[in-house]
Parts: sequence; structure tokens; C-alpha cells
Amino acid sequence: SIVITGANGQLGRLVIGDLIARGVPAEGIIAVVRSAEKGADLAGQGVRLHLADYDRPDSFAGAFAAGDRVLLISGSEPGRRGPQHKAVIDAAAAAGVAQFAYTGIFGGPDAWFHLADDHRETEDLILASGLPYTFLRNNWYSEMYTGDVAGIVARGAIANAVAPESRVATAPRRDFAAAAAAVLTGEGHLNTAYELGGDNAWTFGEFAAEVSRQSGKPVAHVTVAPAELKAILVGAGLPDGFADVLVEVDDAIDKGALAGTPGDLSRLIGRPTTPIADTIAEDLAKLS
Ligand code: NDP
Repeated sequence: SIVITGANGQLGRLVIGDLIARGVPAEGIIAVVRSAEKGADLAGQGVRLHLADYDRPDSFAGAFAAGDRVLLISGSEPGRRGPQHKAVIDAAAAAGVAQFAYTGIFGGPDAWFHLADDHRETEDLILASGLPYTFLRNNWYSEMYTGDVAGIVARGAIANAVAPESRVATAPRRDFAAAAAAVLTGEGHLNTAYELGGDNAWTFGEFAAEVSRQSGKPVAHVTVAPAELKAILVGAGLPDGFADVLVEVDDAIDKGALAGTPGDLSRLIGRPTTPIADTIAEDLAKLS
């Protein structure tokens, strides 16, 4: 079977949809979800469910069998994910799965910023386990920036602590999902790390100009000081520590950590990655 954790999340659903589109029978897919309600629509498509929580290692008993291909989709609580992921790794290693794919972060062990800490810890655990691995080191989702396109148009600005010349090579979730489906159904991906991101690294000035062009409204990129960005994020309700983590991401972008375009993603999916302009268009279309 192909086993997907985080299966009911946004990326997980796209991976399952892609697997089925590639001809994998739904009953050959196991979706790991935290409750039957969360997986009800997947079960309705014929996908099998396994109920488990990264915080309860025992709940992974019986999730995996020898020869399975597994995708561990990283959890959503930065700072806690090392031990959470260990529960999945231990169960998969005990079962003797044939492939263990993991959604890490662009740059892998070279990504020094704090948001990458859990991913580094997880990759180390996987390497130590001896599992045949495939590291899917994902750059930022385009949707991280287009998700608030309505607010950006209303304010006439996208504000962050990124310098005007700095670049980020995003791709939408569906491209990363297609890469995951490709390695879970293809051969030759074992003990391999892929650096996945968009074919084109863009600046926030280019992003603002594209939102402006498509919306017909003036939109500018505004670079604010890191302390000011932190105040904005805390003001919006983010915990202090997480605001620091996000401010540091802008610093990482300034240092070029997310600007690489090695081409692994387009090679895996067999087509160019989806341009940021297309994702902006999709998000603007949701508004009308
Ligand atoms: P979602 O938040 O949509 O999905 C996260 C999934 O992880 C959900 O299915 C969630 O289950 C599951 N999950 C979280 N905690 C646990 C747990 N304790 N036990 C079992 N399952 C758990 O995120 P996306 O699909 O958009 O992204 C997938 C992952 O990618 C994120 O979790 C995060 O690690 C990372 N990410 C990457 C970004 C990028 O730009 N590259 C941006 C944001 C996140 P439930 O529905 O029950 O909560």
C-alpha cells in the first residue's frame, strides 16, 4: 500500500488526488488521519483510513506493513515535530517499509533558520533508522503569499522584512503534491534528496506588480524593519516566539536561502512549475 500521513490536510488531499489520477486504486492507499470524521470524504472515495496521532506513538501500531511506500507529511506544530515524527519513523522502520518519503525544507541540513530545526532533526532520525528514504525538501508554497491577496489589494501593499532585490522560488502545493505522487509511484528515488521549488525565483516587487496588473489596483512592496514586522505579527495575534521564527524567515530569504532553482521539481513532475502569476490569478478569482 501507499500510506500518507497528514492525509486530510491541504497537501495530503492533493497527493491522494494525484495518486488516484495516476491510476493507483483508492483501496491501495491508506490515509492516516486523526479522526474518522476528518477522513470521511477520503473513505467515501474508497481510500482506507488508519486513525493515528503523532503525539501517540502507540496509535501507529498496524499503520504500516512490509513493502509499503510511506509519505510522512510534516506536522503543523513547529518546535514539537521532532518527537512527533519519530513516532512515525519508528513504526515504519519496525514494519520494514520499502520507501519512506518526507516533506522537509529547501536546503535540508544547510537551512540554518529555526523553522528548519525540526526538519533537520527528522532527516537525521530517518537516516539513523536505515529506512530507504526520499527527502522532498520543499521551498515555500506560493499560497503562503497569495492566500491574503484580498488584503494585499485592499491595503495596496505587501509588507515584509525582505529587501527589494531578494528572491524566493515558490511553487503551489499542487506542484509539490505531484512530485510526492511521482516518487511514491516511480522507481529510482530511494536514498535520494530532492530540492524542490519553482523554476523561477521572484522578488516581492515583481509579485506586487503582478497583483497590481491583474487587479487593476496600485500595489507596492514595502520593506519594513524586522522589529516592525514582529510588532505587526504579534499585533495580529501570533505568539511572540513564532513571530520571531517568521521574521527570521525573511532574513533567510534575504540571504538567498530560498532563491535556488535547481530544477528538481519540474524534472520530477515532467512539466514546468506553475508560475506565481497563475496562483495569484487563482486566488483573485476566488474573490469575484
Ligand atoms: P495542513 O495544515 O493543511 O495539514 C497538516 C496536516 O498534518 C493535517 O492533516 C493535520 O491533521 C496533520 N497533523 C498535524 N498534527 C498532527 C498530529 N499530531 N497527528 C497527526 N496528524 C497531524 O498543512 P499543508 O497540507 O498545507 O502542509 C503540510 C505540511 O507542510 C505542514 O504541516 C507543515 O509542516 C508544512 N508547511 C509547509 C509550508 C511551505 O510553505 N513549504 C507552509 C506551511 C506548512 P489535522 O487536520 O487533524 O490537524
